[in-house]
Amino acid sequence: MAELELTLDILEILSYNCLMNPDSPFLREDAVKLLHRHGIGPTRQRIDIAHILFSEHQHLSADQIQARIDAHHAYASKATVYNTLKLFVEKGLLREVLVDPTKVFYDSNVGAHHHFYDVASGKLMDIPADEITISNLPKIPPGMVSAGIDVVVRIRSAV
Ligand SMILES: [Zn+2]
Repeated sequence: MAELELTLDILEILSYNCLMNPDSPFLREDAVKLLHRHGIGPTRQRIDIAHILFSEHQHLSADQIQARIDAHHAYASKATVYNTLKLFVEKGLLREVLVDPTKVFYDSNVGAHHHFYDVASGKLMDIPADEITISNLPKIPPGMVSAGIDVVVRIRSAV
């Protein structure tokens, strides 16, 4: 049984720039270019974090990102990782997906899309934006506009 939860988020959906091309690996110099394009000063740690995050399309928690950084011997403190992720989100490089108040994922796909969330494994999977149709949305309060809609469909094994 899937439970549908509709979250109206103050999310600026930016067009997804296709970073994940299997034919051309995402190099450190690509990470530097990406940071420049988004007006972010390329410090060594920002480059390390961008290189790890954007080498493939993935959904990672801050702890998982920290573990990958440690595994790559690219030392960065917890505070640095946190601040860098916050900056990447602000600059539109990363999208935050809030599954519940204790679970935040960082999504390297900033294009419009929705998610399946496996409550048993804690895994997040993409649902293309056009596979969900939303109707009967409440009227947006005067003076406000929609900044994006994202849906989390919670799933678990049927057996
Ligand atoms: Zn996603």
